[in-house]
Amino acid sequence: MPFFAASSGLSGVGQSGPDSFGPDSFGADSSEGHACDPPASLSFGVSLYEQLFRFHSAVMLLVDAETGCLIEGNPAASVFYGYPDGALCGMSINDIGTLRPEEQARRLAELREGRLTCFTSRHRLASGEVRDVEVHSVPVRLFERTLLYTIIHDITDRVRAEEALRRSEQHPEMVMDGAGIGSFSWHALTDEVGCDTRWGDVLGLGRVECAPMMASWRSLVHPDDLPGLERARQRHLSGVTPRYEAEYRVQGADGAWRWIQETGRVVERGGDGLPLRVAGIVRDVSIRRRAEEDRRRLFNLSPDLMCVGGMDGYFRELNPAWQEVLGWSKEELLDRPWVALVHPDDRAATMQGLDTLRERGVITNVENRYLCRDGTWRWISWNSAFVFEQGLIYGVGRDVTALRRMVEELRTSEARLRAMAATVPGVVLQWREAPGDRRFTYVSPRSHEILGLPPERLLQDWRALPVHPADRTVWELSLRDAVERRGDWMFEGRLVLPGGEMRWWRGEARPVDAGQSGAADLCEEPGIVYCGIITDTTEHREAQERLRQLATTDGLTGLANRRRFLEALEHEVQRHRRYGTPLALISIDVDRFKLVNDTWGHAVGDEVLRALAAICRAEVRDVDTVGRIGGEEFAVLLPDTAPEEALAVAERLRAGVESAPLLTAAGPLSVTLSLGVAASPPCGGADTLLREADRALYRAKAAGRNRVERASKPSGDLSGGLSGASGTGDDADTLLTIP
Ligand code: GH3
Ligand code: MG
Ligand code: MG
Repeated sequence: MPFFAASSGLSGVGQSGPDSFGPDSFGADSSEGHACDPPASLSFGVSLYEQLFRFHSAVMLLVDAETGCLIEGNPAASVFYGYPDGALCGMSINDIGTLRPEEQARRLAELREGRLTCFTSRHRLASGEVRDVEVHSVPVRLFERTLLYTIIHDITDRVRAEEALRRSEQHPEMVMDGAGIGSFSWHALTDEVGCDTRWGDVLGLGRVECAPMMASWRSLVHPDDLPGLERARQRHLSGVTPRYEAEYRVQGADGAWRWIQETGRVVERGGDGLPLRVAGIVRDVSIRRRAEEDRRRLFNLSPDLMCVGGMDGYFRELNPAWQEVLGWSKEELLDRPWVALVHPDDRAATMQGLDTLRERGVITNVENRYLCRDGTWRWISWNSAFVFEQGLIYGVGRDVTALRRMVEELRTSEARLRAMAATVPGVVLQWREAPGDRRFTYVSPRSHEILGLPPERLLQDWRALPVHPADRTVWELSLRDAVERRGDWMFEGRLVLPGGEMRWWRGEARPVDAGQSGAADLCEEPGIVYCGIITDTTEHREAQERLRQLATTDGLTGLANRRRFLEALEHEVQRHRRYGTPLALISIDVDRFKLVNDTWGHAVGDEVLRALAAICRAEVRDVDTVGRIGGEEFAVLLPDTAPEEALAVAERLRAGVESAPLLTAAGPLSVTLSLGVAASPPCGGADTLLREADRALYRAKAAGRNRVERASKPSGDLSGGLSGASGTGDDADTLLTIP
């Protein structure tokens, strides 16, 4: 293929093949590569070849095969490379090629020797742009030199397109690789599974083990999960679902189970429309499943009612707490609109709650009653979220029935307590005793009525309790004592009401035990809490006093009766023993009283007794006690009284009665008394003193009545009668006189 070119264009075409080029046509030695001297002329006359070279639209270069010097470039080459016409001539192949010089040299050698005729490369344009080119090059001998006749095709666009195509082909592969997705196809008729290499990786079977296991893929699936997978496939194959999706466990080569998600659809059908081939992907969803399982465990174990509900009013998912709390099975609950279980009275509020939920996305602590299977209702408090994109409500409900009942009971019991506190006949109190601090924490409203103070006044200041000044010290001591013992407190004393009226009161309280129900909060603060009551005991005391009076007073004469008199005597004997104070006792008996009764009747006898009592009472001091000891027997107790004084009193009594006419219905009567005086018992006590006095009285009788006798002493100095009508003897009946 002889070509003839000249520096200013092809000037001639070789006529005798490669060897006919003369060596003189070339200038200096061009072994130095870049520094190329173009041949002075290649003028062989314009030939067909020159025409071809010059006008061919293909890019053509004539290169010195030794030096890489560009001998010639056609106009298409100038246009392609972007150099002015003729500028290429004299440039080096290194100016347009992108190979390193040593590679370029190696390439030139291959081309020179004809070992390489076509290759792709990258050429740099004058603009700096690099284009992909396909190079066709053949060596030709010309002028004793080997030239490379070279045609260059710009293949940049093709390369780019190919690159793009390759990339686009790689893309799904890469995606599937990156995402750990394996693909498979399953032949419905043969039940054979074909799969890519990732299938085994994804399933944890390994690439090697994968293929042999294909035949028995069912054995790889967890037996519990196989029915679900088959069902999903079957539903799809029978046209129910546009594609199927199933999750199942597969045992990997390491023996561990992993969760696989399989998605597939029919990709090929037979002429009868029956599915022939299903293709799909598998991926490992173990991590998600484990997280889901954790969540499900929580869901299942939660004592709270958890549910997912649709906007259609039906539950989608429920946890077991529903059955535990309400008694309905999951299926029963899924079967009916959930609002059907809401108490009719709560439905309107529930629907309103739903509106709020839809608006705000969240509602908290909304309570309504749910019907239990046994017909009872339970209060549930809801925290719910609405996920708009899913159209689902996620709800967590807590059974607050017991809480509500407690609150209700508390309210009732509080009301009951308040009613009781307002009704009990007293002031109900609660106070706290802390070191250096006492504070009423509750005072019932009746404080107003009983203590003359509003409760607030006492709540402000415990000292406002209007304790009688004389009782204050004892009152405070009683409190201190109770607190020290942490024991019960009781106090009885007097109150002075704001108007000055004095009342008797009794306070009783006991410390509240921290363990007592409802008292825990009371006992949280330091100190002791006392609960108790103050009652007005005035009437009670007065009644008691009256009873005591009645029980100890002689009904006929109003004097102390025998019991009271003996008590007083005992009391004085004790005093005498402790303090050595003198004590005297006068025993009195009416002389011949029987005669009065017999003569004037019993009633007159009573009048006489009353009159005598009055005389006795009048003749002695207030501190002395006059008592009616028997029918017509009296006694006078004289504390702090020496025997002589007592004798004097006795004599005064005797004389007084003797001289005084006693006014009765039967007219004025006159009686006499016999009296015995005993004093300061040495050791014997009340009995001895009484006996001594009686003995002396007996002697007075024996001595003729209307006399005073002193208890006999060893000295016998009491034996001497002090006074009286001596020697009246047995004729004393005549003493009864009517003036
Ligand atoms: P004396 O003591 O001087 O020996 O003679 P007497 O007549 O007083 O004898 P005695 O003490 O045995 O009798 C007491 C009488 O007093 C007997 C009883 O009928 C009478 N008597 C006792 N209690 C009452 C009473 O409450 N009212 C009346 N009217 N008489 C009473
Ligand atoms: Mg008598
Ligand atoms: Mg008598």
